[in-house]
Amino acid sequence: MSPITHFLMGWAVANSGPSLTKRERAFVTWASVIPDGDGLGMVAEWATRHSEHPLNWWSQYHHVLGHNLGIALATCGVAAAFSRPKAATALLVLISFHLHLVGDLVGARGPDGDQWPIPYLLPFFQLPPLTWSGQWALNAWPNLLITGGLIGAAIVLALKRGYSPLEMFSKKADGAFVAALRCRFGGPRI
Ligand SMILES: [Zn+2]
Repeated sequence: MSPITHFLMGWAVANSGPSLTKRERAFVTWASVIPDGDGLGMVAEWATRHSEHPLNWWSQYHHVLGHNLGIALATCGVAAAFSRPKAATALLVLISFHLHLVGDLVGARGPDGDQWPIPYLLPFFQLPPLTWSGQWALNAWPNLLITGGLIGAAIVLALKRGYSPLEMFSKKADGAFVAALRCRFGGPRI
């Protein structure tokens, strides 16, 4: 799935349980995006594509370095260390991270048919990576439907709780967005 879908999914998870603070919501939300950090090798691969020694970091490491249990546990540990309701935040971080993996497993097929198998048990075990034969394409309608549903959920949550996913980037933009939503659909003013 796309990073935007993963982000919105993490946001939905962050707001699914007990009321978390902004910091804890950030841990849970970004836990659903972190796995794709291993895609940053794309920049190096693109920049060196015509060089004598091209760096194939995207081809070799995307869906490998970040999409595994080791990174899931590390992310969970960092979140727990810096959170107040440690158990609740850690659990939601784990759920958020694993929803990313499930999302990729079911709906991330590339245009060339590549399934991006996920070596889930790294770095603990070298077992055959996970794939699902029914995997749909990255731009297939189920992904669009899921993203649309998550946008709808984010709007409902913003109306009810007074903050939106934009708070991860700008408090001001978040406030303006929620105020505009409440002006349009009703709800308490900020
Ligand atoms: Zn991914």
